[in-house]
Amino acid sequence: MTDRLYYTDAYLSDFEASVLQRTDEGRRVYLDRTAFYPSSGGQPFDTGDLGGIPVIDVVDEGDRIAHILAEPLPGNQATGRVDWARRFDHMQQHTGQHLLSAVVSDLLGHRTVSVHFGREASTVDIDAPRMSAEQIRLVEARANEIVVENRPVAVSFEESEQASGLRKAPGRQGTLRIITIENLDRSACGGTHVRATGEIGAVFIRKVERARNGIRLEFLCGGRSNRRARADYDLLTTMGTELSASIDELPGLIAARLAELKEAGLARRELEAQLDVYRARELYTAAEPDRAGIRRVVHRHVGGSLNQLRGVAQAFTAMPLAIFVAGTEHPPAVMVATSADSGVDAASLLKVLLSEVGGRGGGSARLAQGNVPGREQLESVLASFEEETAKK
Ligand SMILES: [Zn+2]
Repeated sequence: MTDRLYYTDAYLSDFEASVLQRTDEGRRVYLDRTAFYPSSGGQPFDTGDLGGIPVIDVVDEGDRIAHILAEPLPGNQATGRVDWARRFDHMQQHTGQHLLSAVVSDLLGHRTVSVHFGREASTVDIDAPRMSAEQIRLVEARANEIVVENRPVAVSFEESEQASGLRKAPGRQGTLRIITIENLDRSACGGTHVRATGEIGAVFIRKVERARNGIRLEFLCGGRSNRRARADYDLLTTMGTELSASIDELPGLIAARLAELKEAGLARRELEAQLDVYRARELYTAAEPDRAGIRRVVHRHVGGSLNQLRGVAQAFTAMPLAIFVAGTEHPPAVMVATSADSGVDAASLLKVLLSEVGGRGGGSARLAQGNVPGREQLESVLASFEEETAKK
């Protein structure tokens, strides 16, 4: 049985212990006592070193705790050193979670159904159908008030039958380890916690999303809140510099720029439409009418896509007795457009042209398009149309 020193003193980082057993060629070590917290209850394990050898995992085996080391540990006595920055960060997040869950329960009446402590951020899943932005602000503000009140956070051991006022019924009988935040919360928990709410530092709810069991709140506490706030501020400052504005002016400025962009887009599309009409007229004027008076044009559009040609095709065939055939190379594709009075169905004409080279496509009586296997086939389609045209 390993004596868990963190149960009674979460602030103990250095300790002496006797080695009781070692397995896995000395890399899996069992001690009589340890300050190393094993992964459990959602809180990640501590790192650090044992006799100068890095501790890479700590496993809770029920009665005992296994220390997994990078190399075998020699000797029967060892000094353990817990990586304090990592541990204290976990203590801030974990106590912050107790605080947040209690405030959500007291203010809104919603239960916490699960918690997760991650490397970057932590989450609590709340048994609530929804939470408004106003409710989130309220919860965050209340949690931070209690942080400033610096209420004691105490650890006690109580028998399950006698333990009263617990927020959640304990899942087991016998002696419970109870964490009490003064005048706020009593919860049975085996994790490590700070000794007063002031040490949690700023509580920051970062994200609210739907979860399987209700609502998931992503939160940061203490040092993580400060680092995130600094990163956010740096990001905003970079954006401000980019736009030559103070960060407070950014929302208005970005909205104005987006409106300008939208207006410029509309104006551009209008100009493109005008240009299409102009180009179509130019092509129409240059085309020699056949004996039936039909003007045909074959447009070899090397770059760009068929979509970019659609405007010209439609403008061309908006004029009387007109047939427009165009090809693009990347990917090899053909477009056919015809005016209603030409007596030619665009989809049928396309089908005839494509059938010779094994292409695929379709469309309406006025506009149709399709793909051909390659550049050679594309050229053959355009050439056979021109040949047909020359006969008329
Ligand atoms: Zn806890």
